Amino acid sequence: MNLGISALNYVNSIKNGDFTVEEFIEKSFERIKKVDDKLHAFLSFNDIALEKAKGIDRRISSNQKIGQCFGMPISVKDNMCVEGTKTTCASKVLENFISPYTGTAVSRLETEDAIIIGKTNLDEFAMGLSTEFSAYGSSKNPWNVDYVPGGSSGGSAVSVSANECIASLGSDTGGSIRNPASFCSIVGLKPTYGLVSRFGLVSYANSLEQIGPMTKTVEDSAFLLNIISGIDHNDNTTIDNKNQDYLKDIDAGIAGKKIGVVTEMTNPNGLSTSVLNATNDAIKKFEDLGANCEQVSLGMSKYAVAAYYTITSTEAGSNLARYDNIRYGYEFDSSGFEFNSYISQARSKLGPEVIRRMILGGFVPSAGHAGKYFLKALKVKSKLITEINNIFKKFDYLISPTVPIQPFKFGEKINDPVSFMLVDFNTVTANLTGIPAISVPFKIEDGLPIGIQIMANHMDEHSLLQAAYALEKTVSLPEVEI
Ligand code: GLN
Repeated sequence: MNLGISALNYVNSIKNGDFTVEEFIEKSFERIKKVDDKLHAFLSFNDIALEKAKGIDRRISSNQKIGQCFGMPISVKDNMCVEGTKTTCASKVLENFISPYTGTAVSRLETEDAIIIGKTNLDEFAMGLSTEFSAYGSSKNPWNVDYVPGGSSGGSAVSVSANECIASLGSDTGGSIRNPASFCSIVGLKPTYGLVSRFGLVSYANSLEQIGPMTKTVEDSAFLLNIISGIDHNDNTTIDNKNQDYLKDIDAGIAGKKIGVVTEMTNPNGLSTSVLNATNDAIKKFEDLGANCEQVSLGMSKYAVAAYYTITSTEAGSNLARYDNIRYGYEFDSSGFEFNSYISQARSKLGPEVIRRMILGGFVPSAGHAGKYFLKALKVKSKLITEINNIFKKFDYLISPTVPIQPFKFGEKINDPVSFMLVDFNTVTANLTGIPAISVPFKIEDGLPIGIQIMANHMDEHSLLQAAYALEKTVSLPEVEI
């Protein structure tokens, strides 16, 4: 049995009777047992996964109706609620928090008979890009365990890339699906803001974040998006996509399409040589596919990282204020504390990155400073949106490398916050403007992956996935060996 098969091939194999759901789930747990000590993709497991598998097998053998996922094992980033299971956000503050309900994206998968096999590691509250800020230890890159897997949805990317499960759900506020997808050589899609419900996602910076699929193939990404997208009355930001079928005509190709190569995101000074070379190869491939590539400047993207961290810290400062150990939290004896010392004590289990964001988030929108920082950041955001809208009048897609550099070693960047934040240079623009963006595995160089990012206009996921599919078909990459 090949645990590395795609979601669509899994469905065909189950329909053919090549193996049962129970056999596949059992083998997946064996695989996890073998590799996860080394990789640490998971924070917890679903105790009733095997029982669920047996139930689905029973329904298959008695010819009952089965959901589209046919029991495939899917992992979920541990900042999404699944009823009755722990949701820690990789924070000590939520160490024992049990979700009282299941979020919409997860419940839509479960309705289609996906089996949530476990919850995956992340940077604490999704703040970071390497999983080095998880309070439970980092996940490791399966291509080379000395290197970071990217983040913040690092555990999700590792679990898919190391064949511990078929697919995963991640969340992306500024790159957290695409960055680890690129670092681990899988496909990661950040949908249009509002296309996927965030009900049940623990908020970090809710004006920017989206849940999206992390998969082995572009077709799998479309398959999962079909299931999780669309209007949800529990999230008023959701958009009605009229049940669009993203798999339909996915192989239509991109002949005659106009692609903008974003000048600021492909600047040789900002990219490593290997990433620059891969980007030039990708441009050539797009042209061979019949598209016309042209340089295009997105001037405001120079300020995007600064605006992004100003806005996200502000939202995080207010979102994380709820961890006061009254409504959520851990046990401690509060007798003898007055209000301020109680709050300090309650927050003392938050990690250094979260604290940094909360301090920044208290300062940048405060009276006397808001005009210089928060309001300026919002201006950058709205100018970026105007620029993007104008660009998409002329272009069908924008491309860049997903991340300007390849995976780095543990500890290499963590003490240099500015160079750390600049790793997000190419990803944050899609969040600030709300457009969809996907990372497609493109190359393995020196044993480590490089992904290419494609962006499209609002709600153009269908055509975005067609471009991603076309690019994917031009490359043949090795399987990870672990
Ligand atoms: N690295 C970015 C941050 O730390 C992105 C994180 C994310 O997308 N959740 O905010």
